[in-house]
Amino acid sequence: MIINGKRLTHGGSSKGCSKLWRSVWSLEIPPRIKLFAWRICRGVLPCGGNIAKRLTLSDMRCSICGFVEESDIHALLECSLAAQIWESSCFDQDYVEAAGKRLEAEAFGDFVAVLWECWNARNRFIFRSPDQNLAVLSDRAISFIKAYREFLVKEEIQKVTHPCTWHPPPMGMLKLNVDTGSMRTAGGSWGFVVLNGEGDIVLAGCKQSSRFLGSEIEEAKACLFGLQCAKEADFDNLIIEGDCLPLIQN
Ligand SMILES: [Zn+2]
Repeated sequence: MIINGKRLTHGGSSKGCSKLWRSVWSLEIPPRIKLFAWRICRGVLPCGGNIAKRLTLSDMRCSICGFVEESDIHALLECSLAAQIWESSCFDQDYVEAAGKRLEAEAFGDFVAVLWECWNARNRFIFRSPDQNLAVLSDRAISFIKAYREFLVKEEIQKVTHPCTWHPPPMGMLKLNVDTGSMRTAGGSWGFVVLNGEGDIVLAGCKQSSRFLGSEIEEAKACLFGLQCAKEADFDNLIIEGDCLPLIQN
């Protein structure tokens, strides 16, 4: 699909933006990807064009291909690096609104995750080291979302099975809950949620590993992962909670 525009969300009305944002907000995707989508909806993704406008710089060229303006649509759909990621995905490059109308909620969540992966790959290329195999990135993003949804389902089942086991942290504190799961031959997965005193999720994440090394080690990895993400988000005053007694006792 040929895209020819400067904004990934058409730059439409604030009413249209709110409607789009509501549909993104209802998706089962991690909060950090929702935040990324919110930046797209508001046209404030920190791509070169937006930064140059804010700082009144004249050079808005793409840091990867040198295209005349590094808009969000260029960075996430048109640029050669993003185009390679889309090429190996099951989606067409498309405006966010159009994808939201065309796709079912689950597929739309996956689409937003691929956009997010394009953004991450771009940042890795510019600031760290380029990915060696761009063809795997869309599948990786979708697998991440799948693991997150499985984590949510597991949390929901636990809520029903053990309705009285979770207590909110005292006001002003946050609680980091971690858990792991074995996916038989597919390895393991870890996840965490950070909740405030009102029981609202303020941060969540999950990861997959190719090998499941036992619940104690995996739970420790989940704990470390949760703490690293909480640190990145500047959350302190954390209470850590998990269900692996040997790890807690040690
Ligand atoms: Zn480019």
